[in-house]
Amino acid sequence: MPVSDHVMLEAWKEVLTLSKLEAGQTVTVLTGAASHPQTVSTAMTAAAAMGAVVNRLDLPPVNGDKALSRDALAYLGSTPLTGNRAAIAALKESDLVLDLMTLLFSPEQHEILKSGTKILLAAEPPEVLARIVPTARDRARVKAAAERLARAKEMRVLSAAGTDLICPLGEFPAISEYGFVDEPGRWDHWPSGFVLTWPDEGAASGTVVLAPGDILLPQKSYITTEIRLTVSNGFATKIEGGVDAELLAEYMASFDDAEAYAISHIGWGLQPRARWSTLGLYDREATIGMDARAFEGNFLISLGPNNEAGGSRTTACHIDIPMRNCTVRLDGHDVVTGGQVCHNPTA
Ligand code: FE
Repeated sequence: MPVSDHVMLEAWKEVLTLSKLEAGQTVTVLTGAASHPQTVSTAMTAAAAMGAVVNRLDLPPVNGDKALSRDALAYLGSTPLTGNRAAIAALKESDLVLDLMTLLFSPEQHEILKSGTKILLAAEPPEVLARIVPTARDRARVKAAAERLARAKEMRVLSAAGTDLICPLGEFPAISEYGFVDEPGRWDHWPSGFVLTWPDEGAASGTVVLAPGDILLPQKSYITTEIRLTVSNGFATKIEGGVDAELLAEYMASFDDAEAYAISHIGWGLQPRARWSTLGLYDREATIGMDARAFEGNFLISLGPNNEAGGSRTTACHIDIPMRNCTVRLDGHDVVTGGQVCHNPTA
């Protein structure tokens, strides 16, 4: 159901206030061919109403000729900022960038953040943004989970379907995503509400069994037949099962890149306003699937790059897999039991 401009303006004001936007600061709204017009106009109006100096930087799309999907996360690598010094300079000079075009996994983004600029990604349609406006409570919850994750030396994931995955931790940071940017140099994504890290390079091992109802992104589909991933030395070495396994394997093979099969970020969902069931209700091209990535109690595993965490792997292929009903255990203590977040983890 559409949302009114008034609702979107109020949502932006809340997000910008949580992001500590002050009068006189410079906000640059980064847009592209797929940016939602209502999101763009309400972002610019809300920032101006709070006294900010507001710019819009519209950049042409890239990689559309290579990607198999229109999803913004379906083909990584170069971005509209690659080699674009003028655009990078404008963003570095901004206090806050509102990324409405999905600028992920790029060295240019790291460079901009290092200058102290905050970047907030908002790519979901207005009705999803309005439903999952972040709160200070989201932040507290996610931060507490990230602190717990940062101390862990091992994540073990189990499920009744047969998952038993062991991921040694410590090489990469624990990252919190709670939907607003309240510190200089912070990147975040509205909507979100989850924690993640990466397994130590080459160290994840075990079996991941995706059960019917688990989700593949960017396919944006609920699988209906089991998929069994064998993981050794940090890579998925076998993808077995029925038609869903064949679809995943064929899609990944199209990239012709062995790095695509590396285990990428791992973490769990903490956002009660995100729902497992919504993916089938939205137009596939209208959403990037943040409900699926954030719903409370999911285990989110992914395949592909680790450059977002400071690693060197930059494959164009990236698969996110939100799973239900998993137990996530850090150093022997559950943080999620059978898909339910443990609110008072024992350690
Ligand atoms: Fe991902």
